[in-house]
Amino acid sequence: MAHTASNLPHANSYYAATAKYPQRYPALTESITADVCIVGGGFSGVNSAIELVLRGYSVVVLEANKIGWGASGRNGGELIRGIGHGIEQFTNQIGKEGVAAISQMGVEAVQIVRDRVATFKIDCDLAMGYCDLALKPAHIKEMQEDYDDLKAQGYPHELRMMNKDELSEVIGSERYLGGMLDMGSGHLHPLNLVTGEASAAASWGEVFRR
Ligand SMILES: Cc1cc2nc3c(=O)[nH]c(=O)nc-3n(C[C@H](O)[C@H](O)[C@H](O)COP(=O)(O)OP(=O)(O)OC[C@H]3O[C@@H](n4cnc5c(N)ncnc54)[C@H](O)[C@@H]3O)c2cc1C
Repeated sequence: MAHTASNLPHANSYYAATAKYPQRYPALTESITADVCIVGGGFSGVNSAIELVLRGYSVVVLEANKIGWGASGRNGGELIRGIGHGIEQFTNQIGKEGVAAISQMGVEAVQIVRDRVATFKIDCDLAMGYCDLALKPAHIKEMQEDYDDLKAQGYPHELRMMNKDELSEVIGSERYLGGMLDMGSGHLHPLNLVTGEASAAASWGEVFRR
């Protein structure tokens, strides 16, 4: 169950203009009881709600504006393995195993999103395929290290180092020295993902009786 309060409109964007799922939920006007109350209807709140309901808890999501109103509904839409750059810098604090565990979580996170999209049949323009691009030789070296690490961890998706010529066939530009193609990362419409997830959670019984 999701309730909204101040109900500001979504930021004016391509995502808002092509939104496909309900964004308005009733305002909370009465006193209600639930096992868990989640404040904020972005990816964190909506997906926490889904996981909790799956475990048998009753959940209320309180959103001040609209589902996906914050970063979740207006970000770059990139669905990329990992958690961003430079996790290796924390090796002294969490060790190589810690770095590997966090990297693995970043791979699993992509799979969780893909599973959500498939399970709930969310129409969010999910397209797999992503390229890291090299402007200088040092970038190629970093990519090769990423490639070797991912292969060593058993990365289950197509991963390919490409030279300048191969890359230009993929992205249509001569600008880069080379790149790494990753078919396990991709792009989607984030507002339709989060509102699609919320919509599925709101019609929960139907989806999960199957
Ligand atoms: C410019 C930008 C680009 C990004 N690009 C990407 C990308 O390409 N790929 C990627 O994976 N990640 C990207 N991110 C990161 C990603 O968008 C965030 O990590 C993610 O959306 C955070 O989700 P959230 O649910 O924690 O927060 P939010 O989506 O911000 O949700 C918080 C919600 O809480 C509500 N709220 C706040 N206070 C209250 C209150 N007191 N009562 C009720 N509701 C409240 C807000 O209205 C909001 O809807 C990007 C982030 C930014 C800023």
